Parts: sequence; C-alpha cells; structure tokens
Amino acid sequence: MSSDKAKVLYLPELTWPEVKEALPDIKVAIIPVGSTEQHGPHGTFQTDFAAAREFSLLLGQALYPNALVTTPVPVGISEHHIRFPGTLSLRASTFVDVLLDIAVSLKKHGIKRFFFVNGHGGNEPGLTIVTNRIKHEMGCPAAWSTLPWNLIGDLSKEIVQSPMTGHSCEREISIMLHLWPEGVRKEALTPGKIRKEALESAGRKLAVSEARFFDEVTENGALGDATKASAEWGKKAVETALERILPYMKEFMERPIPS
Ligand SMILES: [Zn+2]
Repeated sequence: MSSDKAKVLYLPELTWPEVKEALPDIKVAIIPVGSTEQHGPHGTFQTDFAAAREFSLLLGQALYPNALVTTPVPVGISEHHIRFPGTLSLRASTFVDVLLDIAVSLKKHGIKRFFFVNGHGGNEPGLTIVTNRIKHEMGCPAAWSTLPWNLIGDLSKEIVQSPMTGHSCEREISIMLHLWPEGVRKEALTPGKIRKEALESAGRKLAVSEARFFDEVTENGALGDATKASAEWGKKAVETALERILPYMKEFMERPIPS
C-alpha cells in the first residue's frame, strides 16, 4: 500500500513548510495507534501499528486535503503479551500521557479535532480515557475506533470458523495480507493452540473480564486459524470499513472547536 501514489498528508514524510501550507485546510488529525507485540508464529511485531498506519493512510487519502495523518504510535498496552520474547509495553498511564501530549502538540499548530485509528484491542480502555480527557480538559472533539475491526462484525461472521478469534487469527491475518503483506510469514501460518482450560472457563459464558497473560489462553500466541486467511476477504473488509466510516468522518470534521 505504501507504493500507492494517491495524495495523502502523512506527517513523517512532510517538511515544515509543507505542513504550514497545508494547515489552513486541515480539519482533523488522524493518529494511528498500535502495539509492538507478538503475533504468533506468523505475524511480525509491527502487525498492529502497520495495520493502523495503512488504514489511516487510506482514510487520509479519502479525506485529502482535510486530514493530517500523524506519525504512528508504535507501542501500546501489551503487558498481557510480555511473556512472549520481544513484546514491548507501555504502562497504561504512560500510554495515556503519550497520546495526550501528541494532541497538545497538534493543538499548538491549530489542529483541534483528533481521531485515533487503533490497531490493538489492549489499547481500547486507554483510548476511552484519552478521548474523554481531550474533550473534557482541552474542549476539543476526540474519537477513536479499532479499525477496520469495529465496523465489520457482520462480515466477520462469513469467515470466522474458530471457537476463539481476535489475535493473529484468520480475520487479522486476512486484513494484513491486504494492507501490509510484508508483515505476514506465509510459510509459517499456524492455527492457534488455544488452551482447553481457557475455552472451558465458566467466565467465558458470563460478562466477566479476567486479567490473563496471553500464554494462559494460547500456547503459540495466536487465536483462531490463520491458515484460513484470505487477502481477498481482507480487501473486502478494509473497503467496507472505509465506506462505513467516511460519512461519520465528514460529520466529525464539522464539530465545533475552541477558538
Ligand atoms: Zn494484532
């Protein structure tokens, strides 16, 4: 996707005079947020921030020249993956501070609407705190969504066959095969080795969220069955999510902002 020549304002690839010239048209900052965490035997560590970055760039293209896509935040809240070698994690309080500081910086340049494109489920509680604080303390519109996942629940039903999904599974790997195939080890695709005790836990049937390390749920770090992943389905999921989010983004870009 990075070879796509469609126009997008992507901060790491701009100079300050270019940003200065673009600013009067920019109505929203799109901030990709991910993680650096294990993704089983077949997904590389950048899976989540690569997905967030690539989806954000597509969104930035669709909203050009009214959206600035910022530098991706490559580390998130991943302590539950820490027992797998290589995983990095921020404390939740650090994560919140990093994202707030980015919003404060952007506001100093006159950008006052913030949309976080998230690529990692573990970041979600932190993102709710961040967007509430931006709204309540800075008076600026702020929103987040885990994309494309949050918008394609109905499509997921077509593909999901495994009893447990959500991490390095057929859905995530399908989307990666479309968005960032370089990050998938195709020769190593392996079904998740989900632990029986995790599948049979009484809490699974109730609305109970139990803190667990990921190796207590799956032996090889993957859920679901990534051998069933398909780039074609990934493309459909990404295109559908984009189509569904755009009307909201257009509405969000008109939200009143502080003077
Ligand atoms: Zn992931």
